Amino acid sequence: MGEFDRVTFMNDLKKIVEEASRIIGDIPYQHYTFIAIGPGGGGIEHLNSTSISFSGKQMDTRAGKLKMYNFLAHEYFHHYNVKRIRPIELGPFNYDRENKTKMLWVSEGFTVYYEYLAVKRAGLMTDEELINAFQKEIQTYENKPGHLFQSATQSSYETWSDGPFGRTGDEVNKTISYYNKGPVLGAMLDFNIRHVTQNKKSLDDVMRFLYQEYYQKKQRGFTEDEFRKTCEKMAGTSLKEIFDYASTTRQINYPKYFGYAGLAIDTITKAIPGGWLGINTSTKGDSLLISNVEYESPAWKAGLRSKAAIMSVEGQRPATLTAILKERKAGETVTLQVIQAGQSKELTVTLGQKGTKDFTISRLPQASPLQKEILASWLGH
Ligand SMILES: [Zn+2]
Repeated sequence: MGEFDRVTFMNDLKKIVEEASRIIGDIPYQHYTFIAIGPGGGGIEHLNSTSISFSGKQMDTRAGKLKMYNFLAHEYFHHYNVKRIRPIELGPFNYDRENKTKMLWVSEGFTVYYEYLAVKRAGLMTDEELINAFQKEIQTYENKPGHLFQSATQSSYETWSDGPFGRTGDEVNKTISYYNKGPVLGAMLDFNIRHVTQNKKSLDDVMRFLYQEYYQKKQRGFTEDEFRKTCEKMAGTSLKEIFDYASTTRQINYPKYFGYAGLAIDTITKAIPGGWLGINTSTKGDSLLISNVEYESPAWKAGLRSKAAIMSVEGQRPATLTAILKERKAGETVTLQVIQAGQSKELTVTLGQKGTKDFTISRLPQASPLQKEILASWLGH
């Protein structure tokens, strides 16, 4: 387990458990156990316990500690969201077949959303760290071309074939992860409900209602339609636009929804200087191994795929690639000697121009009293 401050850790964990429980307002178990299973990267939720990878060493850095706290909050919140607050398809399980649901963006995505909020409300994360967490989720989602191909409901439904983080290899280009889009949709729903109710209601009320109505009273899961109706009942209005964002690949209007909480988000595309090829590489001996090719990038269009090895660039060592690309402009070319699928070949690629959006989230300079109130209560002030 390694050396770490066990007293502080237990105090912090207690605060996380208290904050996560406060969201739902009921504790359904007599005893809950965190089963630490040593170093690794996984966890699995049970009804009244979780098995979770844990290393005391990870507690040495701020980033490692936060990651651990978020992870613990995530697994703990699952005893509500997924084990008790659940889509009708997710239990009682038939373990002989796949149990497909279109709502993992809620079951997993909102668990990510509430892991951040529980850790924040427990006072273990700063305002900036919380805001940065959402900025990162948006960046990850938007910067993968999969967001043009797969919706959150599809990604939920296809998880048995694609995997929870989307497909791997070149196929990753066609998929997304509901672990990224889910919490962002959660934040947008939360901000929208707070906005239309003058901050009298929030996503917490939706979760509490689902718990009381379906888990406690009806003792069953909810359908997609029941989930949406619960959200719209809390808001007192249609939330069509957000549900469309969940079930389609439509471009999301982030400034509108984050604006409800007095937050600005930078969606301006900025050109990256230099010529754009569209690959990620790792060094392997004297060559560069292509680990990933961006969909529809110049490299992709030239036929390059992951696992190919670059043997030389303009007749020079492959290590010069980055420097050469920096000096070139869009429209200029670069010639590569590659080995792909056992074949040695020379490729001349016409470089493109890459733009990025960084989705930096900041505070609106002139927020209204309602916007300020929503932000303060969301941040747990
Ligand atoms: Zn999970």
